[in-house]
Amino acid sequence: MTGTEQVGRAVDAVARCWIDHADELTKLDSAIGDGDHGTNMKRGAEAVLAERDAIVARPLPSALQDIGHVLVESIGGAAGPLYGSFFLSLGRTVSLHPNRDDWNMGLRDAVSAVARRGNASPGEKTMLDVLVSAESAFSHGLDAAGIEAAASEAAESTIPMLARRGRAAFLSERSIGHMDPGALSSALAVAAICRVWE
Ligand code: ADP
Ligand code: MG
Ligand code: MG
Repeated sequence: MTGTEQVGRAVDAVARCWIDHADELTKLDSAIGDGDHGTNMKRGAEAVLAERDAIVARPLPSALQDIGHVLVESIGGAAGPLYGSFFLSLGRTVSLHPNRDDWNMGLRDAVSAVARRGNASPGEKTMLDVLVSAESAFSHGLDAAGIEAAASEAAESTIPMLARRGRAAFLSERSIGHMDPGALSSALAVAAICRVWE
């Protein structure tokens, strides 16, 4: 998935999923955060779409880093720097025409960059739970449907977790019983990319 056309389709699909699910993301963030995750992700998606043609015309590493910069600047809050780190790291690591091994390495580094930025580990009820599961499914050679399922299950798995990072951590036990909003925005993005890739 490295051609300009495929990058364009992936950008459109991810942006569209965050825009379409903004209300649902905000509802989750209203339960365990400050109720802005949907608005934040929608703003990020619209900012990327505004630059879309210029971004996808660039070589893959630069396009990915551009996406990272735009997301950091537009999403804001906790999620902006985290999603930004993901794409900045991925853009720095992948080659012009990555093969599967290159993607493996790039995605592993990108997920580590998110973990470092958030000082987070899996099991703490964040987007990292989904990103780690999706990356692991990819590196184990699962197909698109398998990766999408792994991401969706990981998002569901955040429901019974007690939040240990981000605003939800302030709620302690009261964070239990709600899906983490960032876990859902990540699972939606993984699903969108998997459907383009299939
Ligand atoms: P804010 O909390 O600043 O309003 P958002 O609502 O846009 O930002 O994003 C919240 C999401 O960001 C959470 O649901 C969680 O998935 C993710 N998140 C917050 N803090 C961290 C962290 N330290 N590490 C990883 N993910 C985090
Ligand atoms: Mg929020
Ligand atoms: Mg906020």
